[in-house]
Amino acid sequence: MTATTVLISGAGVAGPALAHLLHRDGYRVTVVERAPAVRGGGYAVDFRGAAFEVLDELGILAEVRAHDTRMRGTTLIDASGAACGQLPAEAFAGELEVPKGELTRLLHRLTTATTDGAIEYLFDDSIAALTEHRDGVTVEFEKAAARDFDLVFGADGVFSRVRRLAFVPHDQALHHLGMSGAGFTTDNFLGLDHEGILHTTGDSAVYLFSAGDPQRLTASLSFATASPALDRRPRDAQQEAVRAAFAGHGWEVPRLLDAMDRAPDFFFASTCQVQLDRWSTGRVALLGDAGYCAAPTSGMGTSQALLAARSLARNLAAADGDHRTAFAAYEAELRPYVTENQARGREAAAMFGGGAAEG
Ligand SMILES: Cc1cc2nc3c(=O)[nH]c(=O)nc-3n(C[C@H](O)[C@H](O)[C@H](O)COP(=O)(O)OP(=O)(O)OC[C@H]3O[C@@H](n4cnc5c(N)ncnc54)[C@H](O)[C@@H]3O)c2cc1C
Repeated sequence: MTATTVLISGAGVAGPALAHLLHRDGYRVTVVERAPAVRGGGYAVDFRGAAFEVLDELGILAEVRAHDTRMRGTTLIDASGAACGQLPAEAFAGELEVPKGELTRLLHRLTTATTDGAIEYLFDDSIAALTEHRDGVTVEFEKAAARDFDLVFGADGVFSRVRRLAFVPHDQALHHLGMSGAGFTTDNFLGLDHEGILHTTGDSAVYLFSAGDPQRLTASLSFATASPALDRRPRDAQQEAVRAAFAGHGWEVPRLLDAMDRAPDFFFASTCQVQLDRWSTGRVALLGDAGYCAAPTSGMGTSQALLAARSLARNLAAADGDHRTAFAAYEAELRPYVTENQARGREAAAMFGGGAAEG
């Protein structure tokens, strides 16, 4: 019998986790990733609840724990710059928090080193077209030659290409929660030690923390926006919008704005959710942020991505590879959890000043 061939778009969290589990179950797996190499990301992600079981099943729980940011808590600073409260570590760091780059590197290593290269990676490429037929899906790539696969999974994040090609255009799936933010690292000029500072003023917030590298401070500057349009603009336009939103702010904000201009690792993202009324169509299924991003404010994106990979692998095994049955069971199993996480993401965005959402 020939192995079922699977293409996974996206080598973030959900993609490599699914790649590993399906390879273990006898599938022939290819992963296509738009970036030229495994991506870092200047922020930390956390894990909650059953996600720990998946890390354990993947065999990387101990390694992930070794990268724990060991945050001690967050001090709240008011508009005048005075300390006005304290949040416990779990508020931002969940039960375990690690730099996103370490997690994606660990997952990539898991799917390459431990499988002797059996999982194929196509970096610096992307799906260009998908055509489903009776026996499979013909995939055209931007660079590689076209190939047929039995199943295709979209684990390619908030702006999923698979979703756009096989489901709906971005504007029908993305729901902006009224805020956007810039992130970058700079010198740890405040001497923070495994701790954070949250400075909120009306409809903007500055979150600073240092963990891991004591010399570096990670900064996130969020502000109210009416749409996620800035995400697709060049860096100078994004920086200009950040400067405009924080113009006239005191405390350490002017210093942070200067640091932003020089930061080598600047990134910008709007707080969006992905809402779809189904997560699969024929032989194509979505998982993680691509299918149902709950927004960073939920703190559940990484856990969702891992649980989705496990659910898909388990349901495919239980259905003996019958993708229709498996995809329906996957959705039935995960939708209540996702609905809860998305409600949490919306509530937290509203607390942080998101309010101009598109609905
Ligand atoms: C600033 C910020 C802070 C966050 N904080 C937290 C947190 O504290 N806790 C938490 O749980 N989650 C957090 N998240 C969310 C978390 O990062 C995501 O929910 C999680 O990474 C989802 O995993 P994923 O694999 O679905 O998508 P991603 O990790 O986004 O991976 C998608 C991958 O697909 C690739 N890709 C994109 N387009 C294509 C294409 N056309 N072709 C091929 N590949 C493509 C991307 O390069 C990327 O590697 C945060 C997110 C942001 C932006």
